[in-house]
Parts: sequence; C-alpha cells; structure tokens
Amino acid sequence: MMHSNNNILNIRNIGIIAHIDAGKTTTTERILYYTRKVYKMGEVDEGSATMDYMREEKERGITITSAATTCYWKGVRINLIDTPGHVDFTAEVERSLRILDGAIMLFSAVEGVESQSEAVWRQADRYNVPRIVYINKLDRVGADPFAAVHMMRERLHVKPVLLQIPVGNEDSFKGVIDLIKLKSFIWPIGTDGSRYDERDLSKELESEALKWRDRLLETLSDYDDHLAELYIGGEYIKEDEIKRVIRKGVIRENLFPVLFGAAIKNVGVQPLLDAVKDFLPSPADRPPIEGQKRSSREREVRVPSDDEPLSALVFKVQNTPFGNLCYLRIYSGMLKAGIVVFNSTIQKRERISRIFLMHADKRESQDEVHTGEIVAVLGPKETKTGHTLSTFQDPVVLESPKFPEPVISVTIEPKRKADGEKLGEVLKRLCDEDPTLDFKFDAETGQTIMRGMGELHLDVTRTRMERNFSVSVRVGSPRVAYKETITKPAIERGKFIRQTGGRGQYGDVILEVKPLPRGGKFKFEDTVKEGEIPKQYIPAIKEGILGSMEVGSLAGFPVVDIHVILIGGSHHPVDSSEPSFKIASSIAFKNALQKGDPILLEPVMNLEIIVPGEYVGVVLEDMKARGGKVTSMKSDKATHTIMASCPLRELFGYATTIRSLTQGRAVYTTEFDSYRESPKDIYASLLGKIRGY
Ligand code: GDP
Repeated sequence: MMHSNNNILNIRNIGIIAHIDAGKTTTTERILYYTRKVYKMGEVDEGSATMDYMREEKERGITITSAATTCYWKGVRINLIDTPGHVDFTAEVERSLRILDGAIMLFSAVEGVESQSEAVWRQADRYNVPRIVYINKLDRVGADPFAAVHMMRERLHVKPVLLQIPVGNEDSFKGVIDLIKLKSFIWPIGTDGSRYDERDLSKELESEALKWRDRLLETLSDYDDHLAELYIGGEYIKEDEIKRVIRKGVIRENLFPVLFGAAIKNVGVQPLLDAVKDFLPSPADRPPIEGQKRSSREREVRVPSDDEPLSALVFKVQNTPFGNLCYLRIYSGMLKAGIVVFNSTIQKRERISRIFLMHADKRESQDEVHTGEIVAVLGPKETKTGHTLSTFQDPVVLESPKFPEPVISVTIEPKRKADGEKLGEVLKRLCDEDPTLDFKFDAETGQTIMRGMGELHLDVTRTRMERNFSVSVRVGSPRVAYKETITKPAIERGKFIRQTGGRGQYGDVILEVKPLPRGGKFKFEDTVKEGEIPKQYIPAIKEGILGSMEVGSLAGFPVVDIHVILIGGSHHPVDSSEPSFKIASSIAFKNALQKGDPILLEPVMNLEIIVPGEYVGVVLEDMKARGGKVTSMKSDKATHTIMASCPLRELFGYATTIRSLTQGRAVYTTEFDSYRESPKDIYASLLGKIRGY
C-alpha cells in the first residue's frame, strides 16, 4: 500500500483560473508572499510579478505560459500551476486542467461571471476539476459580490455555497465573517496583510451571520446524512464536521464554496489558502488515472501510489540554456535523479539527470520524488508535451491533453539573411514548447510557413523569437489554414514499373479511399494477402500516401479526414523495392483523390460578443456582412451577449473593426469550432491565387 513516508495527502496540485484582469496575477503574488516564498510583493501594474517572468507577458499584461510553482502552507505543499486567461491560449488552459487536482476559480466582484470565465468554467467541468471560488476586488467601486454569486447560479447553473460574508464593501471593505467559526477576520488597512484580527461578532452581526450559516448548513445537509440529522435536530455542529462535509462535496459532488477578498488590498488571501488545504483534493483523492498498454491497446489503470510502476505525464517543455526542462506530473510510482526511463509514447529511452521543485524565484534540486508530485526535470532529449514516461517493464501511455489544431498561418522570413539557418532551429525549439504551433518549409516557394491558433498567438511567438533568440523576422499577413478532403469513395491503381538493363523498379498497388467524419484525420488499413504484396513494403506504401497528403490535389493544402485501404496490387521478386512501392502508392492516392470529388475545408470560429444595448444593431449588421450566423442572444441589465459562428477568413482585423464600431465598449472572444466546407464561390476565387499549407 502507501509508502510510509509518502506525504501524498499533503499535496495540492492546483491552478487559478479566471477571466483576464480578474486579478489572478495579483492573487498569485499574495499567495507566494504569504507562503513565505517571496519576500517582496510584486505588483502587476509595475510589471514585477514573479510568475510573469517572460518579458512579452509583462508588456501585454497577460500571463501566457503555465509555470509550476511550489509553495507551502500549514503543512501542505501547494503546486501552483499558472494558467493563462486569454482564449488564444486555450491549449495552455487545457494542458494545465489535465494535470490539476483542483482549482481556484476567480471572479471579479465588479464584472462577475464574464464570458471567458464561463468558457474556462466549462473546460474545468470537462476535466472534472473540483473548484473553490474566490470573488476578488470587493474594494472596487461598483463591487457587488452578491450579484456575482447570483451570476454563478444564472450563467453556470451551479449552487454556490457561501463560507463567508463580506464586512464592508467598496471603500469600506476590510474583511470577512467566517460562517463556520462565526468570527470576523479584519485586515488592518495599509499593512502587508500578514496579520489579521480574528474577532468575536457583535450581537447584530451574529444574528446576520447565523442566517447565512443556516443556509450553508441547509445546503450541506443535502450532501451528508449525518450532518442533516444534526442540523434538523437543532444540534451544534462542530467546525471539523462542517469542513469534512464541504471537503466531501467539493471533491465528489460539484459543491462550490465561495470566499471573498480584495487581493490588491491584501484582504482575504489566507482564508483562501486555508480553503485550498481543507477542501481541495490531494492526488490520492482523485480517481486512478487510465492509460493504454502500449502492446495490446488494453486499458490500464494506475492507482496513485509509490508502489505502482512509474507513470508520469509531461505537460510542458521549456527551452533553457541547460537543455529542455520538462514539467511533469507523476501519477504513479517514483522518479529518481540519474535513472533512465522509457518514453512510452515514442518508445525511446530518456535519462532523468536532474529533478527540481520549481519555486517562484529558485529551483530546488531533488534526489527522488513521489506519486502526486509536479516537478521539472532536465535530461530528456526527445520528450514533448503530452508524452508519458514510464518503466521499461510496465510501459503505459496516458491520455494526452487535447490540443486544438492550428487554424491560421503566416509566412516568415528572417530580416537578416544570415539568420536563415538559425530560424529553422528557433522554430523547432518553439514548437517543442508549444504543441499548437507548427511550421513548414515550402521547397517550391522557398518560404517558411508558421501556423498557430490566432493572430495574437503568432504575434506573441514572433516577439519571443526576437527577444529570446534575437532573430528578427518579417511576417506576412495572416492566412487561413485551409485543408482538403474528399466527399465520395474512389478506387485507383498506381503502377511504377521500369525495366532497365540490370535491376528494374516494380511497384503496383490498388488503393480505395473513403471520406472520414470531420476530425477523423487519417486511417490506414491493409487488406492484401501476403502473396500479392510482401508485408515488408507496407510501411513504404503508407509513407507514399502520407507524403502525398501534405499537398492536396485541389489547391495544395494538406489533406485530412481520409480512410485509405490497400486492397490489392502485385510485386516482382527481383525488381520490387520500397522506393518503387512508395511512388506507386503516391500515384494511386493522388488519382483517387481527384476521383473522390475533393473539397476545400476552412476553420469556422465561435464568437461571443458582449456589447452595450446601443451597439447591438451595428455589431449584428457587421456580423451579417461577414457571413457570420448569430446562434443565440441574451441580455441582462444593460449588456447583450451575442453568440455567433463565422468563418475565420472573415475575422482578420475584427478586433480593430469592433473597437471602432462600438467605441471600444464591446468585449469578444473567439474559439475554434470546426472545419467545414468552404462555399464553392470562395474556393473558386482562392484556387490558383495561393499555394497553401
Ligand atoms: P489577471 O489578468 O487576472 O492576472 O489580473 P491582474 O492580477 O493582472 O489584475 C488586473 C488588474 O486588476 C490590475 O490592475 C490589478 O491591480 C487590479 N486588481 C487585482 N486585484 C484587485 C483587487 O482586489 N482590487 C482592485 N481594486 N483591483 C485589483
């Protein structure tokens, strides 16, 4: 069973998720300060925040990469995974959610549940991440914490339970009443907030607090029979009993406790840390992780214990001067510095030379780390984000986080000729770090093409090239990453036969191609008998197809969603070779594509636009002109929320347009929805004009 000195129960792997600007960076700073890991508080506004160590993040005021930071609070080790708030970086959110055990959901008391926070809330639902809620900015003019709680009910359809009520509001906000302890916590104004006063309640406050406590207990009664009995019997319920039920509800049953504060004024952060310790799960409280055995594709379950064989998921790779730093989460077993492990995803040996706990300001070297930990390691050479590390004896492949596909491309070229070679190297390193970025060199046009998730994503990448690698590049205007596919099945034969003096060439295959549903990518099946084509040529045949899929027959875009079946062919005992089969299959495949009625696919985005009532008309009109479709509209108080779906090709420069249409009063987010067939007239106008990627 559990290793004697394993302190898995005292680990909290958490992230803070929020709408941009809700105060995530500020709250993180306070957490690191109070946990004594950072001695000087960084202020976001001055750009000195510890987590935002990359320059472009500071300049843009947004947090992009997810760094893992370890800190300690009252005997628990908190591994804080930073998650970004901008939708262009959903991949970062997804990968952090995958490895988190719990999260703090941050809302602003002024704006409440905003569109992006709704989006990340849904993402967290998808990964079953237990959450506690921190409503921040109670000190701000216009703060309405109860409206924010109400929005949670309305927009997120959840039942929030208040563990506190605020003391004061806006200017006068100075603390909270703890409904479990029935005490008030007041933070002295103008201090660093390390000390706060715990006070008994006045009669008046007490009767108010008791009303709220009743609501809390009533809700909790739904989650636990024992507590329900005590409550109905009118008995006094002890602090530990209440906490036990909250913890149970949070971990298993979608109970969302709510706490209040104003991080910038240093109010309410320590109770939040207490709640992380008391209510969010340890790795042992989470369901066992499921993976796949490499050999048999059977499902394999790994219990979170040091006694199980190693399984660890790499969730981030960062280039450093010492090589790639891989952030990983250990789901089972242990890891020691100096050992060799098996990367079961790519079937390669990798050495773990150093293991670190990453603090905000330093690395702490570790000799061995246990199940449930989040650490960074140096040593692996070929390991990428999403890969699994395991033992040679018991390899397992854990499910990788889902990454959306790149939907937009730009051509890039170095400003200085001399940087040509370096550019390729830099791009490779950036792609190692970022699974939603890719690049390709197009030999025909001599251009390098980079693809990513959106205009901002590519722009941030360009800045990073200049800053971190001193490579200045010229970037072409962004283009939609079109794709091609077929709409009906087709069968074609491809022969490559040359009879020359000595040994000739002989390849002959018959391929059937069929359309797959969107997102089906590529499937290959081989149904020929050994006598027709020897098995040794099958990999070459597949290679021929994959090569041809990179450049479609319609307009040169990559081909996707195709099922290829090798149904026949022939070989020659002397003349057949891998290259000749490769060429034959490429001929058969290209011809089959032509016969399969190829079409062009384009990315379609979902938009959520929040806009004051007076601008709804112009926004809708503009959306219609772009060929977008409004899918739903909601309004509450003065703002309207428009949900629409629109082809990406019509959305370039949308940020600027909507700003001028609404005098900067609209907020919108876009998210990739799916690839759909381009209208015929659109792609007729595209054909010939561009050679794509
Ligand atoms: P993030 O984008 O979620 O990381 O948010 P930041 O931490 O960068 O905060 C966004 C802005 O809100 C900054 O100008 C902060 O100074 C401010 N802010 C953060 N927390 C509070 C708070 O509790 N009260 C007030 N009034 N402002 C805050």
